[in-house]
Amino acid sequence: MPTPAETYRAQLIRHLQNRNAERARQVADLQEENARDSAIMARVSELLPEPTLCMQCWYLHGVRSHMRTVDSRPGDPPDTARLGCPNCDLGWTVPQ
Ligand SMILES: [Zn+2]
Repeated sequence: MPTPAETYRAQLIRHLQNRNAERARQVADLQEENARDSAIMARVSELLPEPTLCMQCWYLHGVRSHMRTVDSRPGDPPDTARLGCPNCDLGWTVPQ
């Protein structure tokens, strides 16, 4: 039969081990987030490598998706064309 001190000691060890494991997971997540941000920073430090690339897809994800003319939306100004990214929701109007 373990003494109260031995039980307490074993519980404290388990508690600290669990807390350390959780912190290790948090550190790994933060390192992964930092690596993603560093990659974004490297891309956003430069102009778009191709002028027709979707800036959101390129800068945030490193994906080469080209903007293209898409159907107008209600509320678009007259005499404009709408450009849209086929890969994300980014779009805007340009004079025609
Ligand atoms: Zn996009």
